[in-house]
Amino acid sequence: MERTTRDGRRVVTTAPQSAAPSAATIEAPLLEVRDLVKHFPIRGGLLQRQVGAVRAVDGVSFEIRSGETLGLVGESGCGKSTTARSILRLIEPTSGEVRFEGVDVLAADATTLRALRREMQIIFQDPYSSLNPRMTVGNIVAEPLIVHKIGTRDERRERVRELLSTVGLSPEHYNRYPHEFSGGQRQRIGIARALALRPKLVICDEPVSALDVSIQAQILNLLSELQDDLKLTYLFVAHDLAVVRHISDRVAVMYLGHIVEVAESEALYRNPRHPYTEALLASIPLPDPVAERARPRIVLAGEVPNPARPPSGCPFHPRCPKAQAVCSQEMPPLVTGVVGHSVACHFPNA
Ligand code: SF4
Repeated sequence: MERTTRDGRRVVTTAPQSAAPSAATIEAPLLEVRDLVKHFPIRGGLLQRQVGAVRAVDGVSFEIRSGETLGLVGESGCGKSTTARSILRLIEPTSGEVRFEGVDVLAADATTLRALRREMQIIFQDPYSSLNPRMTVGNIVAEPLIVHKIGTRDERRERVRELLSTVGLSPEHYNRYPHEFSGGQRQRIGIARALALRPKLVICDEPVSALDVSIQAQILNLLSELQDDLKLTYLFVAHDLAVVRHISDRVAVMYLGHIVEVAESEALYRNPRHPYTEALLASIPLPDPVAERARPRIVLAGEVPNPARPPSGCPFHPRCPKAQAVCSQEMPPLVTGVVGHSVACHFPNA
């Protein structure tokens, strides 16, 4: 379905259109995000008037169906974490629409938002700073239960013990403090806290970026197992396409506040259609050194532009090896092709 955004751009809905849709793809989406915008004002002068805006998220649309994992990938500063936090209203979006099970999240009053937050939880990137060092593990994991007034003291203690064991920690860790744990164990504590309220949607905001590679694999495996066991739906934010490959059903690639490509995971890795996705994939080292040496290099020129002064037309045009005159003049719409593979490019790969 084609839509026109506030600034006149054409955007095509990115819902998957598999030739043989699974049960998950014919259900209504669990989460719908439409034309989400977050601009951070830049203030200056004696009176601190607004003199500009950082366009962190600039018209992002996508859907996530129940039981699905959508990977949201892009370089630092592309707006992926701002998108994730805007969905939960940890940051108030500038405009747009977010619906969870049909409920308008951005219009929700305090009571509705509180109820919605039981269903939507977040795992943060940094397991070192996201846990209060003065609280015991038991109190950290129990905090959401206390805030939402769930259970008696004994029931909460029992639930926390169960959660610790679910994420691969010992119930005996209940009275320990975060500093006594490794990075991977702390992230398990963060996961236990996110699961305390039995949410349907978990937003994983770069949950393994701060961890060693071997620990990353353990946490990714744990998240996969939990998804199967607890029927969770994930929005998985990462800056590395290699990380989201195996955990994502579909992947959306962001660049400078825009989604530039969305596809089923395997289709995106096998046949990236946007030059930016192609470049991101080319930067992932291959395990075979011969194949690694043989493959062509794609070197992107320059840095990611300043989101306070985004380029005209396609935001990728100053760095794109395929750019032509029209690219600096017209923003390409996100157009959905076969089997739900969407791309925003005037000259996509076939
Ligand atoms: Fe490159 Fe043009 Fe496509 Fe943008 S629209 S990605 S500049 S070819």
